[in-house]
This record gives sequence, C-alpha cells and structure tokens, in this order.
Amino acid sequence: MRSTEDYVSAAKRNLFVPAANMEKLGTETLPRLENSGGIYVYDEDGRRLMDGPAGMWCTQIGYQRKEMAEAIAAQAMALSYNSPWYTTNSPAIELAEKIAELTPGDLNRVFFTTGGSTAVDTALRFVEFYNNVLGRPAKKKIIVRKDGYHGSTSLTAACSGREGNWKNFDIANEKIEFISSPNPRLHPGLSGSELVEQLAGEFESKIADLGPENVAVFLAEPLLASGGVIIPPSGYHARFKEICDRHDIIYISDEVVTAFGRCGEWFASEKVFGVVPDIITFAKGVTSGYIPLGGLAISEKLVARISGKEAKGSFFGNGYTYSGHPVSCAAALTNIEIFERDGLLAHVREIGPYFQSSMQALAQLPLVADVRGNGLVVCIECLADKNAAGVTDLDKKIGARIDEIAFEQGLIVRPLGNMCVLSPPLVITKSEIDDMVAILKEAIVRTAREFEAQG
Ligand code: PMP
Repeated sequence: MRSTEDYVSAAKRNLFVPAANMEKLGTETLPRLENSGGIYVYDEDGRRLMDGPAGMWCTQIGYQRKEMAEAIAAQAMALSYNSPWYTTNSPAIELAEKIAELTPGDLNRVFFTTGGSTAVDTALRFVEFYNNVLGRPAKKKIIVRKDGYHGSTSLTAACSGREGNWKNFDIANEKIEFISSPNPRLHPGLSGSELVEQLAGEFESKIADLGPENVAVFLAEPLLASGGVIIPPSGYHARFKEICDRHDIIYISDEVVTAFGRCGEWFASEKVFGVVPDIITFAKGVTSGYIPLGGLAISEKLVARISGKEAKGSFFGNGYTYSGHPVSCAAALTNIEIFERDGLLAHVREIGPYFQSSMQALAQLPLVADVRGNGLVVCIECLADKNAAGVTDLDKKIGARIDEIAFEQGLIVRPLGNMCVLSPPLVITKSEIDDMVAILKEAIVRTAREFEAQG
C-alpha cells in the first residue's frame, strides 16, 4: 500500500484538479477520500465527514448502495459500450422512456450527454441548429442572467455570469447577452411581484433592443445554485416564459442541480417554480453521482418543426462517444428505481421544511445576514456587518473559514466567498440534520469571534 506522503507528493507533482489555485499548484493538494457510506465519506486517515454539499449537489441516494454497484457491474459484463452513432442499447431506450414520463409537458425527446456542461452545450447547439433549419439564421442571441452557472465548455462558461471564473479566459461571445440576477436581496424596497415586473421589463427591453428576430433562447436555472442559491420571486419563471412565447424564443431550464429530487420533485420547473419550459437539461442526480451522465429533454413541438420532411435533408451532427452509455444509463435506471421504492421525493418534501427551519435558526447568529433555500438546498450568506449593502474582501473570507472549522468538526461545507451552501444527500435524517446544524453553529460562532478579534 502506498503511504499518505507518497500520495501527497504524487498529487502535487501530477494532478491538475478543477478550479485549481495556480499559485499553490505543486505545493498543496486536496483532502483525499477513501471510503463512504450513507451521507458520510471517510478521508485517508479514516476520519468520518458528513457530506454537506452531496459531493457537487449529486449524491442523492447516498453512498455505498450495493444495488448501484451491482447494476453497473452487470451492465459492464453484458455490454460495456456501444457506438451511439451506429447502434443503441436497451438501458438508453428504457431511460429515455422513463425520463419522458417524468418530465413536464411534452418534453419527450431525450438526448444523452456526459454531464451537465455537455447537456447545456447540446441544448444551445440544438437551438442554433433549429433556427438554421427553420431558415432564420439571424435568430441566435442567447439571453442569460448574472449569477447564473451553466458549465465549463467554452460556450457554457461564456453563459455563466460569475465573473470570478472569467479571469484569463477569453469569455467574450457576441451571441451572449446578460440581464440582471433575480436576487430579491438586491432590491430590498420591492415586493416580489414588483420585482418580477421590473425584471420582466428589463427582459422585454433587452429583446426589443436586440430585435426579437435575433433572439433565440433564454437559458435559466430555476434557482441559481452556484450563484448562492438565489431564489427568484414567485411568478418570475412563468412571466419570463410568457414573454419568450410571445417572441418565439426558446426557454431552456437548466435543471442540472434541481432535477432528481433536490426540491422534492423529479423536475422542479413546473411543480416548484410554475413553468413548463421548452427544454430541460439534467445531470448529477440522474445517477446520484455513481457514474457520469447528463442529458436534455426537448419538447415534441420543437422537434416536430425540424424533423421528418421539415428536416430538409439535415442531420443533427452533435453528440459524444459516450452519449447514452449503457453502463451510465443502467445506473440511472437503478437510481430512479431506488428513488421510487424508497419514496425519496416524498421524504424530501417531508424533511425539507425541517431542514429549512433548522437552518433559519442560524440567522440569529452573528455574521449571518441571510438564510435562504428550498427543499434540501440552503445558502447561509454572511457579512462582517450584517446590515451592510455590499460584500467586502473581508466578507469573502468568511465562507472558507467556516468551512475549515466545520471540516475539523466532521462536516464538509461548500464555501462560496461569503456564502456557505449545504445540499446534503436526499436520504438525510432529522438527527443528521441536527448534527449538521450543531457543527455549523459552532463554526459560525467561532468564525465570528475570530473576525471580531481581527477588528
Ligand atoms: N448547469 C448547472 C446549473 C450546474 O450547477 C452545473 C455544475 N455545477 C453545470 C451546468 C455543469 O455540469 P457539469 O459540471 O456536470 O458539467
């Protein structure tokens, strides 16, 4: 067996991880996880850590589900791969059928990708293709929101409004237009419905300025997850969809985080946020992180306009070697069976309010300026001066410090500057939520004391 030191030095030498701090590349490495079970992971020293962010919002059914390992092994033994260009496979067909059953409206045409970024990238390429086939090549503008996150391909990164990720990349893309984040905290004087009207007005003006004949798509997460769990005011999505319909603009709901139970539904768009989009993208929870998979479900109406004799000889030249991978699709089918058998959506609907109210109790603590969430996702936003309007450089250090202390106490937190995001595996119990809140409370109180001492 290799020693810890050996792993550390090999990681420092050869591993290049996502979002690497380049100043520290080669001198620092990340905690190495070795084992898992339920909502916990175990590090290289066997220390148990509660998985507060569900990995990256994805380990819905929890770790070490034997049925998942068996389904993956069985499919790998039967058929480990097929070319999706020339053949298909039973798990991909069954999964497309199942997802069509679970999506709202007529979103019944399912395309598989390798993850969330490739799902959103494919959705955008589909819209580009759609408008070209329909003979309107100018209809290409993509409208997105500040604070949104849509992935890490060139196109999806350019659609992501978190400027911290842009430095030293060539992000500019003449097709992409940003509008405001639907963050109620940025508009303290406005009621929810007033804010919806203000944002809808901005959207209408943007479309008018660009010319509706040039606008192809509105791309939006139901709640802006990586932007800090920003929850738009009630009625926002339906109002935006109505504007899209009036201008023949395609509404893509990026449900990479929210699909598969995070808000207590298979898909959050319709049942939680009141909108039936034209396209939904998904990934993460579709396999509970056991194996990579993503995809999109497209409205039959859209597909009908550019298929059959309407296709005018064109073929959709977009796809991946691993589109509809049989092992990934078999894992997803088993994951969905586990959701159904264990009543996991009902569990989230039942325990979600307990999770939210337990987190709300933290709002009384020093530093905590806002606690917001839905289902099993929450953001604790911190400010050194709770009532300050803006976020200072000092504030941006708070999340990392809370994470550090929580980690020592056995809880992984997702720090995002001055915010901490928690989105645990969906199988979490009330007593595990109590443990999580107790650790968070201590971490916040200790961080507040330290910040106070620093003045
Ligand atoms: N869309 C959203 C809303 C996401 O949160 C993410 C990832 N966090 C992505 C797309 C990209 O997914 P992936 O990392 O699987 O490519």
